[in-house]
Amino acid sequence: MLLSELPSPPTHRLAVKVKPAAERAIRQQHPWVYEGSITKLSGEPQLGSIAIVFDKRDNRLMAVGLYDPFSPIRLKLLAYASARIDSAWFTQKIKVAHALRAPLLADGQTNSYRLVYGENDGLPSLIADVYDHVLVLKLYSFIWLPYLELLLPGLLEASGCGTVVLRLSRQLQARPDQLHGLQEGQCLVGTLPNPEVAFMEHGLCFSAHLIKGHKTGYFLDHRHNRKKVGLLSRDRRVLDVFSYAGGFSVHAMAGGAKEVISLDISAQAQAMAQRNIALNFGEGANHRVIVADAFEGMKELYKRGERFGLIVVDPPSFAKREAEIEGALVKYQQLARWAMLLAEPGGILVLASCSSRVSAEDFFEATSAGLASTGRPHRLLERTDHDVDHPVGFPEGAYLKTGYYEVVK
Ligand code: SAH
Repeated sequence: MLLSELPSPPTHRLAVKVKPAAERAIRQQHPWVYEGSITKLSGEPQLGSIAIVFDKRDNRLMAVGLYDPFSPIRLKLLAYASARIDSAWFTQKIKVAHALRAPLLADGQTNSYRLVYGENDGLPSLIADVYDHVLVLKLYSFIWLPYLELLLPGLLEASGCGTVVLRLSRQLQARPDQLHGLQEGQCLVGTLPNPEVAFMEHGLCFSAHLIKGHKTGYFLDHRHNRKKVGLLSRDRRVLDVFSYAGGFSVHAMAGGAKEVISLDISAQAQAMAQRNIALNFGEGANHRVIVADAFEGMKELYKRGERFGLIVVDPPSFAKREAEIEGALVKYQQLARWAMLLAEPGGILVLASCSSRVSAEDFFEATSAGLASTGRPHRLLERTDHDVDHPVGFPEGAYLKTGYYEVVK
């Protein structure tokens, strides 16, 4: 499909007033205005209309955003002062985002990173992940369709990529009638003869399927934790639970682990993990996969008397909805308990949560309860949050939390 078939940016602007609570949030540069917060809207709203929010009391400009008729978050804010939203504006925004990632890229050992992390980089509902020469643009809102053409030059310039692949959120894929012919996985720029793309992460090689893989193909967010796990793995037997493409497993092996076991329910993920191990260490590496449910698999390993010097537990999000939070906390507690039971004396546990609905406080409390339930003495070594390419720009942007624990001998 041609980008010229996409709608052009609407030319008419909207003037919006919002409730006092929403005004307070906007003053703190919170990027979301819910449908129910809008008290007045003048103009003819269209998908992607520029909306100017004015202060109720003195009519001063508070923010500039885009109108999203398909989402309860009706306005997604881009700027908190007067701004002309054109290609130059997007290019500048993306340039700033790229500069923030410069320290990560400086040593030339990493060429996979999140260039744009949605709201946190000022571009709501838009993710741009770079894998070597390919940029994966993932959209979570229809508002970007009229602006795709204006966005691409900045993305290409900052990343130096020759190919741009489009990925669409589930909500967008569910409305093909609104996509103007855009397809999940299509190339917007260049070509992608092989959707499995090789890239580097702290000097190690990986390959990911950029069209069929989770999110944009790989989980870039744990990069710093994977590096740490590598540094902690020497001479240890390592268990990587919820291993996906084997990110932690590869770093553990590179760090001198005696043996690595990857545990994941998906045979497809395990095939990727094996490929990534082989890419770095050939076929002879002391790595084994177990395709099983994590809870069952950990129980089985425990029964067999297998013990490990380092265990990573990095489950998928357990709480997609508010109502699932309690259940998620129970699972985190159980996983922490199983990890502790499987640890050798002196072993290290790396326990993570990516559920944005579960607060760091609640996650660490559930984890502590799970660890304590075994009665084994242990201490907290460290807590980490996001790597630099996932900056947190507003409260909802923070989702990743990881605790490092040591079993006291
Ligand atoms: N640790 C990985 C990312 C994990 S993503 C990394 O660093 O890249 C979550 C993984 O959990 C997926 O691969 C999914 O297949 C797996 N998974 C989901 N439910 C599971 C379950 N009940 N038991 C084991 N694995 C599961």
